[in-house]
Amino acid sequence: MYGVKTDWFEPSPGCHYDLEDYESLEARWCPGCGDHAVLTAIQRICRDEQLPPHETVVVSGIGCSSRFPHYMKTYGFHGLHGRALPLAEGVRSRRPDLNIFVATGDGDCCSIGAGHWIHAIRYNMKMVVMLFDNNVYGLTKNQTSPTSSHGQRTNTHPRGAWLQPIDPIQTTLGITNASFVAQTIDWHPAHLTATLRAAHKHDGLSFVRILQRCPHYTDDIFDFARNDASKILLMTHPDGVEVPAAVAKGFPNATSHDPSNIDEARRLACGEDGLPIGLFYRNPDAQRYDLFSIEGLATPRAEKIAAVRRVLDGYRV
Ligand code: SF4
Repeated sequence: MYGVKTDWFEPSPGCHYDLEDYESLEARWCPGCGDHAVLTAIQRICRDEQLPPHETVVVSGIGCSSRFPHYMKTYGFHGLHGRALPLAEGVRSRRPDLNIFVATGDGDCCSIGAGHWIHAIRYNMKMVVMLFDNNVYGLTKNQTSPTSSHGQRTNTHPRGAWLQPIDPIQTTLGITNASFVAQTIDWHPAHLTATLRAAHKHDGLSFVRILQRCPHYTDDIFDFARNDASKILLMTHPDGVEVPAAVAKGFPNATSHDPSNIDEARRLACGEDGLPIGLFYRNPDAQRYDLFSIEGLATPRAEKIAAVRRVLDGYRV
């Protein structure tokens, strides 16, 4: 940070945050892990948007990607397995002034946290939800996750996963009140950063599935797309994720997709035209539960206590 900093909590007007103001501990993810790219993208967005570190919080559950809050010099909450979303909703309800980023994995969100996932989409509180999807439980050493592909060999299914995987995008597009649903890839920093930036600017819950490499356990699952860009379908639109023309040129398979069209979003999510990346769906008019849950925040404490006493007195015998 340069400029006059009078206090960590009260930076002087005109002070400027640099990348180092968002960098904390050295990341302990494996070399080549896609999580490093996401961390860099979020730190850049924080710097570019000049998000004050003391007004930013990263919330996570359990898993490799859930170490994210430790590597950001912001507030952070490393929660319980599957519980990142209700924690973030609690933060949003009490501190609507904060910028909230949620880091959750395919095991954390789509398995133990699946109930919270559905209702968080429906509640549509303003936050960026990053689903790090590497198709495996990495932290617990190669267990089948809900997004592991059929036949994928893991320590829990050494002869191959039995069930067909959940598709997090198709699932999210089926939840009432979804308001921003996007997909990106960790090996393309420009698209990754543009997608997360658009997610941050959305007024509501932005759900971003990030196809994330895990060189330790699922090294080759995205090779078909990493080695041949024509297997990727780039979704473009003036209301979608903006990428520079030079970046778009790198994707020979592209389509203009209007993100207000949910039927087409659902069709594209099936992947028949290629692995889709970009914005599937955006509804800026979706109801936001946080606009309701913050009502009364400014009421003086004494008045709140008196109101609770009045209610309890109604049960006196
Ligand atoms: Fe990343 Fe996989 Fe290593 Fe976990 S096990 S840190 S997901 S590469």
